[in-house]
Amino acid sequence: MRSSTSSMLEEDPNGNGSYDTAAGSHRWGPHHQGAIELRSYYLKGKRTQELISILVTSALLTLNGVVLLLKFDWSQLGSILCACFIGILVADFLSGLVHWAADTWGSVTLPIVGKAFIRPFREHHIDPTSITRHDFIETNGDNFFLCTIPLGYMTYILIWGDYKENFEIVWFFYLLAVFVSMTNQIHKWSHTYFGLPWFVRVLQDLHIILPRRHHRIHHVAPHETYFCITTGWLNFPLEKISFWSGLEYIIEKLTGAKPRADDFAWANKNT
Ligand SMILES: [Zn+2]
Ligand SMILES: [Zn+2]
Repeated sequence: MRSSTSSMLEEDPNGNGSYDTAAGSHRWGPHHQGAIELRSYYLKGKRTQELISILVTSALLTLNGVVLLLKFDWSQLGSILCACFIGILVADFLSGLVHWAADTWGSVTLPIVGKAFIRPFREHHIDPTSITRHDFIETNGDNFFLCTIPLGYMTYILIWGDYKENFEIVWFFYLLAVFVSMTNQIHKWSHTYFGLPWFVRVLQDLHIILPRRHHRIHHVAPHETYFCITTGWLNFPLEKISFWSGLEYIIEKLTGAKPRADDFAWANKNT
């Protein structure tokens, strides 16, 4: 059930501290009790994992990019542009899949994974603009982390393998890694209403990257749709075919687990 009181404030001033006078508590924002508790679980070990992920993945993206450009041949341009377009679509789908899985299933109390990888998703729903206060490392660490091992394998292929016959596939995976790495920065921009660089606003207005208004559809409790956050191009078609609700129906039937049970529990920790 969605309602206007379940949504973020329109044109949110990046503080997002909506106080519910009737309930005597904060409905959203940094003063929400659940948000305060979740924030306290962001510890040094997690920060170190994010920093290492950013450093290693940035080095691999640079190295692989330089090798690919050195071996670039203009006759490959058409195929590379196709690989780029498919890479954008797959990155958008994967952003939705990971976001949906983390929002809908699992719990912050799960060993290691809970506090390290599910916690940021719970925090983001009850304090949506906390992402605008996160620095580059906290914003992008986990997306870079997802790309580290695939990019390392790609370095091996590029240096020791023979990929001439499959150069489109190598370009596809390289560009996919670039778009996956950029996804949470694009998501952060979709929550930022002040001080965005002009070129980001142009890309949002042209719907080349996730637009602000488009992403607000996800931020209406109970956060059950529009999970894709790279470009958001797949949100409408996936909603039309009831993709996420269909998956949830099947998983609930098979396992008995209730979708978003942990997310609801955190949302209600505001007394
Ligand atoms: Zn979400
Ligand atoms: Zn968001």
